[in-house]
Amino acid sequence: MSTGTESTYPAVYDLIGIGFGPSNIAISGALVEKWTALSNRVLFIEKHPSFQWHPGMLLPGAQMQISFMKDLATLRSPQSPLTFVNYLHSQGRLSAFINRGSLTPSRKEFADYLGWAARYVEAQGVNVNYGQEVVAINESMDGLITVTSITLADGKLNSFITRNLVVSPGGRARIPNVVVPFIKEPSIVARSTLLHSSEYKHRIGELLESITSERQRPLRIAVIGGGQSAAEVTMNLHGLLNDIPAGDGPIGHQVDMLLRKGSLKPSDDTPFSNEIFDPEVTNDWFSTSEQGRERIMAEYKATNYSVVNPRTIDALYEIIYDQEVDEAIGARDSTVFTPHPRITIRSHMHIPSLKYDTGSKKFVFTLQNVRTREVFENESYDAVVCATGYQRNSWTKMLRASDRLGKRFGIDDSASDIPIKLVPFAQRVADTANLDQPQDSPLSSVSSTPTSVVTTPPISPGAENVVKQESSPTEVVKLYITRNYRLLPMASTKTMQDGSAEGLKARIYIQGLEESTHGLSDTLLSVVSCRAGEVVDDLLNND
Ligand code: NAP
Repeated sequence: MSTGTESTYPAVYDLIGIGFGPSNIAISGALVEKWTALSNRVLFIEKHPSFQWHPGMLLPGAQMQISFMKDLATLRSPQSPLTFVNYLHSQGRLSAFINRGSLTPSRKEFADYLGWAARYVEAQGVNVNYGQEVVAINESMDGLITVTSITLADGKLNSFITRNLVVSPGGRARIPNVVVPFIKEPSIVARSTLLHSSEYKHRIGELLESITSERQRPLRIAVIGGGQSAAEVTMNLHGLLNDIPAGDGPIGHQVDMLLRKGSLKPSDDTPFSNEIFDPEVTNDWFSTSEQGRERIMAEYKATNYSVVNPRTIDALYEIIYDQEVDEAIGARDSTVFTPHPRITIRSHMHIPSLKYDTGSKKFVFTLQNVRTREVFENESYDAVVCATGYQRNSWTKMLRASDRLGKRFGIDDSASDIPIKLVPFAQRVADTANLDQPQDSPLSSVSSTPTSVVTTPPISPGAENVVKQESSPTEVVKLYITRNYRLLPMASTKTMQDGSAEGLKARIYIQGLEESTHGLSDTLLSVVSCRAGEVVDDLLNND
């Protein structure tokens, strides 16, 4: 990796990683196995003040949904010191874990394992700057990359230079359009009663305390979404509200799940379907045509997105059934029950508008059932949780803003409205042959191929009750990526033997952001261990 020609800089890192979650810990683990081949100048920059893994959804009782063997190392190297089995052994729990008779640990235990692994690689010489957020990347004068971070505690700017960059920032909260105005302005009072599931555990205690002290009860809370996070949040809220007196009336607190679909759908965790997450499948996925990849994605989406683990569905159904039993007994016997919180699943719900009433301090929804077309006005909720999943494109903003570096890859700020699309590098040959424009123009990589656009369901009478697919000509900037997760510079820039561009010596890798080219397992833990090995091998490969 090190060419030894950049000695004018006092501290040039061989590798800087943005983020220090599972992907980059796994890369560290694969790297420390090869320290002899490296000069071990490796730095990871992580915005959390210490190692954390989805802390906002670390809810009591939450279980992992994949086998412990899909840890940071086993599938790549079962002998690695970083395996979950080695962690269990080090904690004196190996026998007890075996006695449990389950392949899936709790999320609490897996988070502890990841923290243990982070400490292990740090002890081996991997540097981690916690509490810093990377705010810019750019090309340095000698073709390396400068990385600028801000220390979150004091606002100090830090600058580093690296020969290689690996970008693994994880997902960012996806917020429905109707909710965005309330999120964007953190000073407005509405924000204090609005959460995304990713921040749920940190904020829900304070939120409930504030609304119970100042409002009339019973409380009413909306959970938007019908995936695993929505189900777990709903059940957790049900438990928390159970401990808060609902007032003197006959009605308890209410938690309403607002789903777009007709019901909660189970995740497909069956063995044949699970093969889609095998590391070997990445090759097939990467070499398949774009249409083929889209088709496989649609076919297998229910293994992961907008679905709920069947055990969680059963537990939620049991709660709802039990409340029906209570209500029936209460109605028949005129018994005065202490009212329990009530969960209602409101399916087929579209949210045409959302307001905030500053008088009552409540969110006021207009809802429409897209199947029956019935409209529900003035639906007031004391708080709203968006369990609406994650998006993974915010990292491209840094590349767009990086001017010289962005242009190396065919993108810059002047095309900021045009979406960036990852494309397997083999496609570049065909694309280059088709280009009429000069190849060094940033827009030379723009395609006008028709692209699928998903619109929200219309609400006018006569409208269909399903999400509508439209075709419209959409421009995209293509960003070429190799099988080993390295972004390739523009074809017009002379490509060197090592895959870097003339003048640009640094390599950029991305992790967990390339589902469209590398497959469904990309955002999950399934291939993390193998992927880390592939990236490290590529880093060391100068052919
Ligand atoms: P998700 O699976 O992407 O589900 C998002 C939900 O939000 C879907 O029901 C979606 O509805 C809905 N939604 C998105 N945008 C919306 C909008 N604009 N208006 C209304 N509804 C909207 O997200 P997730 O539940 O957070 O799960 C993400 C990943 O984390 C999954 O891999 C999951 O397995 C994992 N996870 C794991 C655990 C665990 O291991 N225990 C816990 C939580 C999450 P549609 O279905 O209509 O699109």
